[in-house]
Amino acid sequence: MGPEVEAFEAEFAAKIGSRHAFAVANGTAALHLAYVALGIGPQDEVIQPAVNFVAAANMTIAVGAKPVFADITGIDTPVLDPDDVESRITGRTKAVVAMHYGGTLCNMGTIRDLCSRRGLLLIEDACHAVGAECRDPGPTTVNGKMAGAIGDVGCFSFFSNKNLATGEGGMLVTNREDVAEKVRLLRSHGMSSLTWDRHRGHASTYQVTLNGYNYRLDDLRAALGRVQLRKLSANNALRRELVALYRQELSGLPGWSIPFDGQPSLGAAHLMSLVAPNTEERSRLVEGLSTAGVQTSIHYPVITGFSAFAPYRGSGLECSEAFCDRVVSLPLYPTLKPERLQEICRIVRGVAHEAPVPA
Ligand SMILES: *Cc1c(COP(=O)(O)O)cnc(C)c1O
Repeated sequence: MGPEVEAFEAEFAAKIGSRHAFAVANGTAALHLAYVALGIGPQDEVIQPAVNFVAAANMTIAVGAKPVFADITGIDTPVLDPDDVESRITGRTKAVVAMHYGGTLCNMGTIRDLCSRRGLLLIEDACHAVGAECRDPGPTTVNGKMAGAIGDVGCFSFFSNKNLATGEGGMLVTNREDVAEKVRLLRSHGMSSLTWDRHRGHASTYQVTLNGYNYRLDDLRAALGRVQLRKLSANNALRRELVALYRQELSGLPGWSIPFDGQPSLGAAHLMSLVAPNTEERSRLVEGLSTAGVQTSIHYPVITGFSAFAPYRGSGLECSEAFCDRVVSLPLYPTLKPERLQEICRIVRGVAHEAPVPA
């Protein structure tokens, strides 16, 4: 945590428009620190989507709190449904985790208002949405803000497959001074001075004032991150263009759809999601592409389907379950050549046209 980390944090904070940014070991560490710094613990409930990577839910359990899963708005809008979130609020609800699926923001105007009105903390799992801008319809105070800068805390991952990659790595952003003060300590064992401070002679010993962790990022990765950050806007724009081309090439396939149709595309375009008519058709597509040497991925199996989450299964998650049973992610990266994309789409159309049209 030397000068490269400090510079990366300052540049990242400026890009996102947040007062503080803390580089951490990975996105999961950012989520864990968010919960601890916000005082989330035993007896608390954290409302969150079941359509997410498992990190936010695992860290909820790590701090002794209970994950309460809310449904998504619909198969074509796979982000938290604010009405369903509100219906699941109890006397124990402490926080809401909003995840910006695929780089398109949740309905943040409504969710921000709901959390303020009901006295709930708001955490953004912005791991898909680095560099995404909020374009919320209607008169809201969140319009024009960046993903991660809207909630009490925003969490990012720089894992190898994210839009900004450093191998492993992550960032926690916040505008709250009290949270920043805690995160600064919790990230490095609760120690009052860092190795770097002592190296420079700014301190010779340290006090431990909180029980913390080692979630530090190193200068090597921060140096990579600074270069990646400078490329981020251009790379996100390339990704959006590729998604637009996919939409054009895959339009009008009966029973198949691409989420977030017609939404303003100022997102981070992290995923190219395609929703099949059913699980069988998805399997046929995955096999067809795999045979042609094209890798696909599933984002994600529904969290409540995992055996470790059996105690947290609830009802009313029909859209989440249907989405996770049918979605597949197609290749998407800034250097994907349009010719290769068209080749992929030819295979998709071939598989889709062989399929029986759903009733
Ligand atoms: C990648 C990711 C995480 C976890 O980040 P790591 O850096 O792998 O710990 C959490 N949430 C979402 C939505 C992610 O995509």
